[in-house]
Amino acid sequence: MIMRAIQMVDLKQQYAKIKSQIDAGIQEVLDTATFINGPAVQAFSDEFARYLGSRHVIPCANGTDALQIAMMALGLEPGDEVITPSFTYIATTEVVALLKLKPVFVEVDPKTFCLDPVALEAAITPRTKAIVPVHLYGQAAPMEQILDIARRHNIYVIEDNAQAIGATYTFSNGTTRKTGTMGTVGCTSFFPSKNLGCYGDGGAICTEDDALAEKMRMIANHGQSKRYYHDVVGCNSRLDAIQAAILRVKLKELDGYIAARRKAADFYDAAFAGHPAIRTPYRADYAHHVFHQYTLQLEGKDRDGLNAFLATHEIPSMIYYPVPGHRQKMFSAAPGSEVNLAITDQLTKKVISLPMHTELDEQQLFHIVTKVLEFTHL
Ligand SMILES: *Cc1c(COP(=O)(O)O)cnc(C)c1O
Repeated sequence: MIMRAIQMVDLKQQYAKIKSQIDAGIQEVLDTATFINGPAVQAFSDEFARYLGSRHVIPCANGTDALQIAMMALGLEPGDEVITPSFTYIATTEVVALLKLKPVFVEVDPKTFCLDPVALEAAITPRTKAIVPVHLYGQAAPMEQILDIARRHNIYVIEDNAQAIGATYTFSNGTTRKTGTMGTVGCTSFFPSKNLGCYGDGGAICTEDDALAEKMRMIANHGQSKRYYHDVVGCNSRLDAIQAAILRVKLKELDGYIAARRKAADFYDAAFAGHPAIRTPYRADYAHHVFHQYTLQLEGKDRDGLNAFLATHEIPSMIYYPVPGHRQKMFSAAPGSEVNLAITDQLTKKVISLPMHTELDEQQLFHIVTKVLEFTHL
């Protein structure tokens, strides 16, 4: 049998399986011409809130806006410090700078790739107003410790849940919560390649706090309290109805999609188990990992060489992320960018993400691991 081309994310194949439902959802929006804030947006928001177990879901235009709206609503002032990992997608830290807040870059744990609670607490000053834990690659950050630190220092927690929709965290008392619902606010993205992706841009914010929800809804809609009455400076950030109709279909598939990702991760884990040069993703016992990415750390092997070698065998692989936040040009003049983050720097040189999506079959997985093993045995 001829193998299907391997992609980092295979959205075409995924769409083929849900085509009739997706097409019907889009058609309904077209037929009713309810393009903005239509019933599909309300229905999706309610269904997503139920899925997460969250009191309020505020849909918005993308995950970056979600973070920005959350920070605006919390009333952070220029110069306030916001603690974030440097080892994350740029959106997390960019919005901090955009709002004239000060990003304080903190080290991650090399096992979980998420904020290191010890480094986090050491970075707190009287100006610290918020912490942004990122559930990177689909695994929850150590929320129990982070929430405890935040409570003791009276600091907001803004979860960046863009990569981990559907992941869970289990507290030491046995309570389990979905990521994005534990902090003051949770922000997420429906970018097409995310675990719950639409076919364009989309995002959402969730919170348990009624007043904060109200304020975020207002900010996302030009600061409007009632039509043409604008109480605060806001922005225009909407989830469009066609995307909401698509997300309603895909939300029903999400748990199945997560299971498919975890199955592919299990295949990789088994193939690389015990390999001296390959560190497979750590699975924290408190977390249900949803594998937005399957990210290896190479020890003593040429990471960029593997990336190039796989490409010659038509296997895509990616480096998330080659340059950490604190070394980005955009922050070169910013106070705080001179920090020394040795673990973060090392990770940017060792990590490589293999194809990970809902449509990988065993023939493809076998081909990928064979080539990875071939290169790492050299
Ligand atoms: C994708 C992503 C975002 C931003 O989401 P967009 O919808 O692309 O704006 C933010 N943070 C992280 C960690 C992400 O992966």
